[in-house]
Amino acid sequence: MSKVMIITGGSRGIGAATALRAAQKGYAVAVNYRANSAAADQVVQNIESSGGRAIAVQADMAVESDIVRLFETVDRELGRVDVLVNNAGIVDQVSRVEAMSFERVDRMMRVNVTGPFICAREAIKRMSTRHGGNGGSIVNVSSAASHRGGSGEYVDYAASKGAIDTFTEGLAKELAAEGIRVNAVRPGVVKTDIHASGGNPGKPEKSSQAIPMGRAGEADEIAYGILWLASDEAAFTTGARLDIDGGV
Ligand code: NAP
Repeated sequence: MSKVMIITGGSRGIGAATALRAAQKGYAVAVNYRANSAAADQVVQNIESSGGRAIAVQADMAVESDIVRLFETVDRELGRVDVLVNNAGIVDQVSRVEAMSFERVDRMMRVNVTGPFICAREAIKRMSTRHGGNGGSIVNVSSAASHRGGSGEYVDYAASKGAIDTFTEGLAKELAAEGIRVNAVRPGVVKTDIHASGGNPGKPEKSSQAIPMGRAGEADEIAYGILWLASDEAAFTTGARLDIDGGV
């Protein structure tokens, strides 16, 4: 039986790279997305055409009933989840804090913090030996912004990722004796659509000079870290925050 991996935001960017690499390693993959069904279907098609197993599941990480439905769909179609990758995340337009609306900050926290908590809740019910499960692994996608702060750009986003770092630390300890490891990756600037969605498409190029390696990262370079943390090779690793950022 293949291990089952749920990747939130698996339709594009880091999530899509992780889905494709995970399938190559033999995982059956649930590719979650919010709106871009064509991109999710393309990831599933790429996996299937290489002989792998995947499904696309629409669910908004800001909506509890969507998350519950995502896990129930995976139970039914792929089997009990072994790995959760809390990857879906958003940025917003560049802004100082005094110009941020309540709605902006609220949505940022719902998608980037509340969603991963509720996904973890659903995963724990299925994975924890305390609940009759076989154990598993949770990998949270944080950001270098969590320790850099995002000043003048997106402090709300950076703070949401700070919450993910603390969540990782606490949940790892809470679950360590129940067969579940919880870790995070903290990517630096990576070449994906997220920068355009925040109105800053040139960010990977513009940031290059400030990155010791002189370039932004590729989505695959983050996927490899996620998959290592998820794997048995990382069996003694929990509560770790793996910086994959070109040296920032
Ligand atoms: P991306 O290219 O913008 O892709 C975002 C993915 O998340 C898409 O699959 C999107 O689905 C999904 N998504 C967005 N909102 C969602 C919601 N409410 N519910 C469910 N899915 C949702 O982003 P990325 O750059 O790969 O980022 C992935 C993660 O890495 C995020 O957590 C981000 O904060 C983190 N990160 C990225 C960078 C970077 O430089 N790229 C750096 C550090 C950390 P649709 O296709 O349906 O829109």
